[in-house]
Amino acid sequence: MIEVQVFRKHYFLDKWVLISENREKRPSEFSRKAGHVGLEKSCPFCPGNESLTPKELGRVSSRSGWSIRWFENKFAAVSPNAGGVSQAGSPLFIEEPSFGYHYIIVDTPKHNFPLSSFSKSHMIKLFNVYSALVDSLMSKPKIKYVVLFKNHGAGAGASLSHEHTQIVALTKVPPLFKQEFSSFSRYFKKRRRCLMCDIIRSERREDKRIVFENDSALVLAPFAPLYSLEVFIIPKRHVQLLSDLSDEELKDFVLLLRRVVKRLDSSNIDYNFVLHYSRDRSFHLYLDVIPRLNKHAGFEMSGFVINSVSPETSVKFYRAH
Ligand SMILES: [Zn+2]
Ligand SMILES: [Zn+2]
Repeated sequence: MIEVQVFRKHYFLDKWVLISENREKRPSEFSRKAGHVGLEKSCPFCPGNESLTPKELGRVSSRSGWSIRWFENKFAAVSPNAGGVSQAGSPLFIEEPSFGYHYIIVDTPKHNFPLSSFSKSHMIKLFNVYSALVDSLMSKPKIKYVVLFKNHGAGAGASLSHEHTQIVALTKVPPLFKQEFSSFSRYFKKRRRCLMCDIIRSERREDKRIVFENDSALVLAPFAPLYSLEVFIIPKRHVQLLSDLSDEELKDFVLLLRRVVKRLDSSNIDYNFVLHYSRDRSFHLYLDVIPRLNKHAGFEMSGFVINSVSPETSVKFYRAH
């Protein structure tokens, strides 16, 4: 085994990760008990219970009804009806209305049917829905960023086990994304090259952290992962949006995601994923997959992150089986 005990700087965030792999960890150790919510008698996301959800905003129809549908989140974090004005009476008490849109996409009509079991064609359909919704919400007035993410499993924050995705359209760019975008644009201004394209080139040269690849996409265990077993799924071509991908490229992209989530599901590891995209030409689209093995604890409150699984070990984990 490679013993690693080192501070590593994140590629583009102002974050340092202490990789502290002080004991041998075999891939089989990475598993946690399934903490999934059981089947609910009246799951609001199941076919037949459509009346239990807020008004439907759209669907992909199928012979038996729908294969994907979306609506406003019943427990929305932000709302198009949020009124009021920004208050800055004192520089210490700054408030703004929580205007925005919060949608739920039900990924499949089947209950207890995880993403990793989706057919290739269904997964492509789902990503086409993601792409269309992100593009349309991004063009709404006042909206500055649309966060698309999945919570898979109770350990990742999912409150319903029926597979679904969330989209939150906000009037502010989330701080971590902001930091990331400015790293990309600074890098581009300085070198006239894309940071992610350079990362891919350098990681290929190092040949240690690229987990899988196909013709147009790859899975990378990042040099300084903020979470154990974190991976980036990256299109090889320099693109900014899901809608920039050709059909063939989107297929390659989802096939790699499928491989990653299959591996996580086979060890009962809950996960989140978050789409990173921008309309700025200096940025390079990727999907951040975050398994929920470790909880950030006291040490992380200092701003440093400790990770007991090196990315080199993550590669072994994903390649096993
Ligand atoms: Zn259901
Ligand atoms: Zn690029």
